[in-house]
Amino acid sequence: MPTLTFTWQTTIDNKTCDKCRQLHGYEWFFYDEMPRVLLHPTLGLVWDMVADQSQAHGLPIRRGGWRCRCIVTWRINDEDLQDDLLEIRRETRLLEDRLVTTTQFLESFIALLVGAT
Ligand SMILES: [Zn+2]
Repeated sequence: MPTLTFTWQTTIDNKTCDKCRQLHGYEWFFYDEMPRVLLHPTLGLVWDMVADQSQAHGLPIRRGGWRCRCIVTWRINDEDLQDDLLEIRRETRLLEDRLVTTTQFLESFIALLVGAT
């Protein structure tokens, strides 16, 4: 069964807020599904998957407000991945050429993996 893992990556320096510092390295795990948002047990909604941006400080960029510099990285673990390498390479090219968003890419990726198992 494919597992989708998301990891919060905070830019750590003297401008980093407590919230983002706390989120650094936090991981989410999903099985055969693509989340719409990432929720933290105490901080609540922190990432919007559809917009592909942080919600840790509400609106990400505002004059005089917070400007979150965090990113969320992802990886997929699946033992049957070898059989689907050609299809995955095709999907990856679409992502690299920015013809699909990260969310669209991961959704088709999961659909492929679920179909293969
Ligand atoms: Zn942040």
